This record gives sequence, C-alpha cells and structure tokens, in this order.
Amino acid sequence: MPITFILDGPAQYLKGVGPRRAEQLHRLGVRSARDLLFHVPRRYEDASTVAPISGLEIGMDATVIGEVVSKDVLPTRKGLRIFNAVIRDRTGLIECSWPGQPFLDRSIQKGDRLLVSGPVRFFHGRQIQPREYVVLGRADSPDEGGLVLPIYPSTEGLSQRMIRLILEQNLDRLLPLLVDQDPFQPDHLARLDLPPLHEAIETLHRPASIAAAERARRRLAYGELFFLQLLHARAHQQATRERAGITFRRTNALIRPFHDSLPFKLTGAQKRAVREIFADMSAGRRMNRLLQGDVGSGKTVVALLAMLLAAESGYQAALMAPTELLAEQHARTMSGLLVGLGVDMVLLVGRQKRHERRALRQAIASGDVALVVGTHALIQEGVEFGKLGLAVIDEQHRFGVRQRMQLAALGQEPDVLVMSATPIPRSLALTLYGDLDMSVLDERPPGRKPIRTGIRDDAARAKVWEFVREQVEAGRQAYVVYPLVEESEKVDLKAASAEYDLLRTDVFPDLEVGLMHGQLPAERKDQVMRAFVAGDIHVLVSTTVIEVGIDVPNATVMVIEHAERFGLSQLHQLRGRIGRGADQSWCILMTSGYEARERLDVLARTEDGFEIARADLGIRGMGDLFGSKQHGMPEFRFFDPWQHEALLGHARREAWAIVEADPELERPEHRRYRDELVQQYGERARLYDVG
Ligand code: ADP
Ligand code: MG
Repeated sequence: MPITFILDGPAQYLKGVGPRRAEQLHRLGVRSARDLLFHVPRRYEDASTVAPISGLEIGMDATVIGEVVSKDVLPTRKGLRIFNAVIRDRTGLIECSWPGQPFLDRSIQKGDRLLVSGPVRFFHGRQIQPREYVVLGRADSPDEGGLVLPIYPSTEGLSQRMIRLILEQNLDRLLPLLVDQDPFQPDHLARLDLPPLHEAIETLHRPASIAAAERARRRLAYGELFFLQLLHARAHQQATRERAGITFRRTNALIRPFHDSLPFKLTGAQKRAVREIFADMSAGRRMNRLLQGDVGSGKTVVALLAMLLAAESGYQAALMAPTELLAEQHARTMSGLLVGLGVDMVLLVGRQKRHERRALRQAIASGDVALVVGTHALIQEGVEFGKLGLAVIDEQHRFGVRQRMQLAALGQEPDVLVMSATPIPRSLALTLYGDLDMSVLDERPPGRKPIRTGIRDDAARAKVWEFVREQVEAGRQAYVVYPLVEESEKVDLKAASAEYDLLRTDVFPDLEVGLMHGQLPAERKDQVMRAFVAGDIHVLVSTTVIEVGIDVPNATVMVIEHAERFGLSQLHQLRGRIGRGADQSWCILMTSGYEARERLDVLARTEDGFEIARADLGIRGMGDLFGSKQHGMPEFRFFDPWQHEALLGHARREAWAIVEADPELERPEHRRYRDELVQQYGERARLYDVG
C-alpha cells in the first residue's frame, strides 16, 4: 500500500480507534493518521515542573501528581456543589477542590493517578483549586511514558490517558512512514543541527527530556518558517524583477516647491525612508517596499513625496486606503499640501455617483490626472490607468496580498509601496511581510507631548465628563469611542447611539455632540467628519471606524468605553488619533474589573507601539494582534516569534539562497520544496506562478 494512503487514511482505521473515538478525535482536528502524528503535546511535565506535595505552600501555583485516596461531593450553603478529592504522593496529602463541578465524580475514581495544576490556598488546611487536571492512569499500573509527561490537547470524552494510549498503539507502526516524507535533505538539517521529521515527531511524543522536546519543536517550526520564506523569496523575486519601461527621473519640478512649502521639516527617519524609496524607484527593478511606522510617525508625507517623484517623471501614482473616510482625508490633506504646485489629483470612492465615477475613470485612463486617491473601488471597478508608475497602499494590514497585487495590476508593473502602522518586532515583520523590503519610521515628529493615559471606572464618570467639558471650553475637541465587535454589532451600535443621546441631551446639552459609525450613509459620515475637522463638533461619539488614520490635531481627549474589550495594539491605534498637535493630550480608558486594569496598565506606562505589541502578543497570541481583519496571516502551530528568532534568520537565508540560484525551483533537489510549497500554500503559491 502506498505510504501516503496509510498516512492520509481516516483516523477511524487506526488501532484502538472506532467510530466513536474517531469522532472525538475529529473534534481535536485529527482526521487522518498523519494528523494523529502531528497532534503533539502542548506542554510537558517532568521532575522539574512537578512539586512534592509536602513542599506546597499557600500562594504557590503548582503542579503535583498523586493517587486519589478519597473523594466526595459536598453541597454548600449557596446551593453550589463541590467535588473534592484527596490525593497522595510519597511526601504527603492534599485536598483538591472543584466548586460547581460535581459531575467530575464520574470521571475521577479512587486509585486514579492524577496530575493537577493550580493555585494553593488555605481553606480548612491546604487545598488546590485545579485550573487543569489530567487522569494519568491507575496508580497500581506501571508508570507510563517515563520521566517526561506529555500533556495533549484533549476534549470531552477523550481523556489524556486515551490519547496517550492511542498514540502508543500506533506510533511504532506510523513513524517509519514519515521517513520519506521529510522535504529536507539530511545535510540541510544537519547544517542547522535539526533532527529529521520522523525523529522530531517521535521525540515530541516520547521526549527523553524537555530540552529534547524543544529541539524537536524547533525542527517543526523550521518547516513552517522555511516554506513561508520560500514563498516570500519567490514573491519578492517576481515583484522586483527587471522591467523595461518605467524609469523615474527626479527633475525637482514638483519635489523642490513641495519641500519649500511644507510647513515642517522632515524628521531624520522620514528623510532616510524617502532616500530608500527614491533609490528603489530610480533603479531598474521594481520597488516592493513596506514603510512601517507607529501611529503619528508621519507616513503620509513620505508617501506623497514618492507620488510626486512618479508625477514629475511623467507617471501616475495611486494611493489606496481601507476606508472612504481615510481616502477622503488623504485627498484633503494632500490637496492642501499640493496647493500651487499645479499637479492634478482626484478622489475615487464607491459612493460617488455612477456618471461621476465614469468621468473620473476616463480622466484616469487618459493619463491626464497624475495623482489618484481611492478605496477598494479602484480595484473593484477595474480602473485602467494610462500610465501608472507607483501604487501605494495605506494601512496594509487591512488588505490582503491579493488586493495589493490587484492594485499593481491596474498598470504595467508599477512600483509598490505599502504602509503599515502596526509596529511589530522585526521577526514578525519578516514572517508577515517577508517579501517586502522595509523602511522604518522610528522617530516621532518633534514637539509632541507624551499623551497622558489614565484608567477609570464608572464611579469616576461624572469627573471624566467634567474634564471633557473643561477641555472643550479651552477650545479643544474630544472623542468618545465605543467598541464594536462584529459578533454583537447591533447591541454595540445601540449602546453607542444611547451614549450619544445621553451626552447630547443630558451631559453636554450646550455643546455640539456628533455621532460616527460604519452604518451611517456615506454622505452623513463625510458631513460629520468635515464638521469635526472644522471644529464645529466638540465631542465625537464614535465606534472604531476612526481607528485608522484620522488626523485632527485639535482633538486632545479620547475617552474609550469598555476598554477591556479591545486588544492593546488596537487601543494604541485608537489613542494615536490624539496627541497629534503641540497641546497636551489625554486618553481615558473606562473599565471596571481588576484584571483588565492590570492588562491596560501597559498603555498607561508607555506609548511605544513595539512594547505594546509585545505585551499584546504575550497575552493574546499572534492571530489577534491585528484584530480579525488581518488577512493572509499564516497559521503557525510550532513557530514562536520570541523563541525562534534566530531560527527564522536561518530559514530566511536558506530559502532566499535557493530562490536566487533556482527561481523556478526546477532543479531535481528543489522539486520537493516546490511540491511542498504548493501543498502548503496552494492558491497563494499560484499567485507567484508556483505550481
Ligand atoms: P501616520 O504615520 O500615522 O500616517 P501622518 O502621516 O498622518 O501619520 O502624520 C501625523 C501628523 O504629523 C500629521 O498631522 C502630519 O502633518 C504631521 N507630521 C508629519 N511629519 C511631520 C514632521 N516632520 N514634523 C511635524 N509634523 C509632521
Ligand atoms: Mg496614516
């Protein structure tokens, strides 16, 4: 039988697995024999992590292993029933207590060997309240697995013990099948001191030590990183290849007068970024560059300079923004900065009347307008550019790789500049945007005061509103932000509208209060935004639609309701709407509950987006860092951006060298990589003509 047939055969035909177990395995994402092999422990316990019971002290957070010597279910006065079990190891006894879980009486038996982890507290003596427990087996059966105990992801009805048993029954038969499944040549792995695939999988299930399991995990992480970097290398290679046609020549016809009329001096970081971008644009290859900079670091003017270089070289430049609000704002700011330069700019967004858009499309196709600012409408309507030389994408994380390519496809291989305000550590940037060259704005424009951030609860509400009023009376403006999560959009909208009504009628009846959210008709949004920019609205109640890009320097106060419902990086983005002028700005995070306070405290302590991203990543994991809108985010099961930074560097070097030497991955020794790339990245690999 072919090996892949067995490996990809349904889990139901594994030893010890019938229809019922197969179903349970399915719930863990295990459908095939291969999936079972890759269902690896999420952590390990060994002598260094398991404590002797006699050594437990109140206040510790501990993991212990012991035999259940007695158990019972106790009622409490509040009607809650508690399951209690006393466990014993060689050193002593301790009570484990699960309030509200009387049903555990069925799954935990006297004589079971139990692993529990949780806080040790005092309640008629020492007690553990397990956060987690695992029935390891019967105390009278010999120890399974040896010194290191793997802890697997498990599910209702399928215990740790069962998973271990299924693996034990199948591992020896399945592991040899993995020998030819390793896409890497032995010398490639040896160079990096990594074990072959089958060995790594075996070690993850049966580690001799936790260190051995970590090395095995590195091997699997390497696989994830290498193929992603191979994809990036291929994408970069394609995007930057030599191209006949477009050459940008700096004449200074626009750039000089623009510099002269700019109301501020560029920061050192902005100058550096402009130099890097101009060098790319003047070279014979296409530019494919990311401009990364924290909120407020001044990306727009850098982009505009690039667009002007295109224009003065006789080409068109297009900028695509994720929302109409932002596109309109860019158009406004840019036309403000371009006054007197004699360069044409148009705005193209979905809400414009059809005939209006048709006229715009014609003007764009004729090549007459040099600068175009728009939304998705640009790609959705297949606008044809007469002479597109540069495509700029703002707030890249709101778009997918595909959209980036679609925009570029509106012209003949224009240069591409994407901008991102999500500060992420370099290792992550290389995984997410590894196909792009990178410029970083790591310096803020001068003269900004640090934003003061405080955390308040409902008790302080009257004071908070009083403070907002004082600021407005001093001539400033304020945002009041409401969370809007997709799952409960209606309820959230209602809450935002209710707050708006309350503020308008009761709290600030004498002030101008505005409401902004995504569901408003476009003209209304525009109207509200204009009024806010003009200073006619004092307090703007809004959902997170103002999250990206909005720039109103006179707004110096932001009150964020239910701050606990946001991720830290998202709060940081929101807060970036204030502190844009020379005046002191304040951000007030409204929340109740102690836990949230601790998390939010990071924001009160720092304005450094990198540090905040780091904290967010630690708390919520990678997928959440950008909110649910992040597209094209690879899912990593093994790669950990903190632990495997050096490994990422190796993967990148190896993959880039291969693509440099053999761009089509045609050589016999590279075919394997090509196949694996197609298997892992199917559609995305095809975008870059792989597969
Ligand atoms: P972001 O990087 O968040 O997109 P913007 O481009 O919107 O930032 O710039 C934020 C604000 O800083 C704008 O009001 C802009 O005019 C201003 N700004 C940009 N560069 C400078 C500079 N070098 N000196 C002073 N102000 C600047
Ligand atoms: Mg911006």
